[in-house]
Amino acid sequence: MFNSTIVSKFNSIPTPFYYYDMDVLKQTLNLLKKESDKYGFIVHYATKANANNKILDIIRSYGLGADCVSGNEIKKAIECKFNPNHIVFAGVGKSDVEINIALDHSIFCFNCESLQEMEVINELAKAKGTTASIALRINPNVNANTHKYITTGLEENKFGINLWELDNVIAALKDLKNLKLIGLHFHIGSQITDINSFKTLCMRVNEIQSWFVSHKITIENINVGGGWGVDYHEPDKNRYLDFAAYFKLYNDFLELRPGQKVHFELGRAVVAQCGTLISRVLYIKKGVNTNFAILDAGMTELMRPALYQAYHKIENLSKYQVASIKSQDSAVSELPTTDSLLIKYDVVGPICESSDCFGKAVNLPETFRGDIIALRTAGAYGEVMSSAYNLRDRVKSVYSDEI
Ligand SMILES: *Cc1c(COP(=O)(O)O)cnc(C)c1O
Repeated sequence: MFNSTIVSKFNSIPTPFYYYDMDVLKQTLNLLKKESDKYGFIVHYATKANANNKILDIIRSYGLGADCVSGNEIKKAIECKFNPNHIVFAGVGKSDVEINIALDHSIFCFNCESLQEMEVINELAKAKGTTASIALRINPNVNANTHKYITTGLEENKFGINLWELDNVIAALKDLKNLKLIGLHFHIGSQITDINSFKTLCMRVNEIQSWFVSHKITIENINVGGGWGVDYHEPDKNRYLDFAAYFKLYNDFLELRPGQKVHFELGRAVVAQCGTLISRVLYIKKGVNTNFAILDAGMTELMRPALYQAYHKIENLSKYQVASIKSQDSAVSELPTTDSLLIKYDVVGPICESSDCFGKAVNLPETFRGDIIALRTAGAYGEVMSSAYNLRDRVKSVYSDEI
């Protein structure tokens, strides 16, 4: 992804910024499309992972739908020309204003998370003289074996309708005349790397489906959500996920009824590896037991480490240029590891919070003020979570096809 030629271009761009490799994004989408099309699976991109217009445009051009979790995300998806018929809307706290936006655009489906929400959607749809298509977001009580802040499919989580509430919900649905039940929805968490969790989900979906069949309720759509994780440790070796294995697993284990369609909502798996946060070292400072490399990017640009102790691989990209000068080869694309002594640094940001730390005791070649540092695998839940805390400037983005 990086070589000395690209890094020399970075030298003239003010930091910090997000760098997006559009070839990586497109190749990811190629693989995703090829493998999901084999089974006729429908994939909605989880807009919240990265909502940059340019990225949304490309994703839409590959025929994906949009999975939105706010009224503004729905507006953004429409603005980027996603077909409303390919937009789904999830979230435990949909406001009346947001529900009305979705109704006005006649989106494909509301993923409903409680009976009270269904009653409100029914009222608002009635007031507009329309019918809302809904799926029940069912909490399948499956452990995703991921960080507790990004686990969503356990009974203790706030998301979805619990299994023991189903009787009640189905009974109430009969009186909600402006709702049309078209599907079941599940989403068990994020950054799930153990593919067995998805197998467990399939089994649970099969059981839940039998319950609906025994109650003579036909379900047209099964939405299994997203949550598939990427390799933050080896972003070059595992740049592309095994989409073939992922979709095959669902094809092998989901028991579908005739005519049923399967939907997915992938976010991170689509955009994580194409994005990198690029920053410069402001200062090197000696601590008691450690050295600090203080960057011009912090938790305001990339919040994941501070928010859920997330790991991002950190690289000193300026060393590509050192290697290139030494070898007199202008396009060196391997970072030197042997010819330079590695030193441990705590890599931190400039924000006035101790949690503003990207990594402790990170091995880097000797690093200097002005060196360009990459925080890899930052395309998902990076730029979208950036904030203006400390009155920071809004982080910029740079695309590989524009420099
Ligand atoms: C966040 C979210 C997703 C996407 O999760 P990823 O881990 O990025 O794939 C899908 N569906 C729902 C309902 C979500 O909230």
